[in-house]
Formats: sequence, structure tokens, C-alpha cells
Amino acid sequence: MHTLPKLPYAFDALEPHLDARTLEVHHDKHHATYVAKLNEAVEKHSALRDKPVEELLRDLAAVPEDVRAAVKNHGGGHASHTLFWSIMAPQKGGEPAGGFALKMDETFGSFAAFKETFTKATLGIFGSGWAWLVVDKDGKMSILALPNQDNPLSAGFTPIMNCDAWEHAYYLKFQNRRPEYVEAWWNVVNWDAVNEHYRAAIRGLVK
Ligand code: MN
Repeated sequence: MHTLPKLPYAFDALEPHLDARTLEVHHDKHHATYVAKLNEAVEKHSALRDKPVEELLRDLAAVPEDVRAAVKNHGGGHASHTLFWSIMAPQKGGEPAGGFALKMDETFGSFAAFKETFTKATLGIFGSGWAWLVVDKDGKMSILALPNQDNPLSAGFTPIMNCDAWEHAYYLKFQNRRPEYVEAWWNVVNWDAVNEHYRAAIRGLVK
């Protein structure tokens, strides 16, 4: 059974940037529903029951057709949100450091250029979706904008950071003002956690 991970900080920990009420509904209602519906889908096929969600998403073609869309949407929702909670923390923001920052400079030119491109990707999503920082099978970093709960794992990438552009992520506090939400969100990005995801992705490649 897939389980809702505990939020690694209090609902109000990301105030004043992200509000407590939104975080509570987002985690306890939206994410919880993705987990419940993913469980409903995998219960129908014993072969799927013990597979981690990442494994299911990496090979959607192997998922029986009658539950494939449910696994893609709800499994994607579960994995997307688990990553999202992990790359935020109170009193963070700023810029990445060390080897990860150098890799970012090498890829995007500068942190400022990365931030601008990632912000544009988030703002450019029509309707619901996510912006992603991913690593490909050669270790190359790039930014993706994907609709709905489509996960980069299903396209052969390893996600290391994401920003939720669904209205449920910001509507209570920011209403239709997605640019203000994204601007506020940069203040809670935990670069240490993103760096950890990057290192894990790179380790996965050399295995
Ligand atoms: Mn969400």
C-alpha cells in the first residue's frame, strides 16, 4: 500500500511565503486523494501491488491498460507531491552552492538565468501542471514543463526539483496571481535537498 508521507515541517512553517491553510489542504486533501486513488488502482492487479510508485511511472507501458491512466494521474500526483514537499523548508531560498551550483552555471549560464527560465516554464503552463528540473540518462540537466500530473520518470528523466502550478497550490492566498505565488515560492526552496536529489540521480547513473 502507498502511504501519504508526513509533511517534514508544520503547516505554518513556510509562512509568510506559502500559507498554512493552503499547505494543509494541499497535503491532507489533495495529496491524500492521489494516494488513495493510486491504491484503488493497484489493488486490481496483484503484480502492481508491491511496486514503488517510481517504478510504476518509469514503465507505464507495463501497467495494465484498465488502470494505466489512474496510475499515471494518481501515481504521478503522489510522486510529484512527495518531491515537492521535500524540496521546500522554512528559512531557505537564496542560491545553491558547491558542485551543484557549478553544474547549474554550466547548464544555464548562471543561477539568475536558471531562475528566470524555470519561472517562465512555471508561468507558461496552460491550465494545470508542473515545472521540473530533471537529469537525463547522461547526467545532463534541463527544465521541463509538463501538464497535469505527468511525471518526468515516464519520459526517462530523473526529477530533482519541481514547482506545482496547479491552482490548488496557490488559489486560497494568491487567487489567479500565479506570478506572485512563484515569486514567493523561491523563498522556501531548500537547495540542500535539491542538491541531495541531484547527487542521488547522478549516483543512479553510474550504477
Ligand atoms: Mn498540488
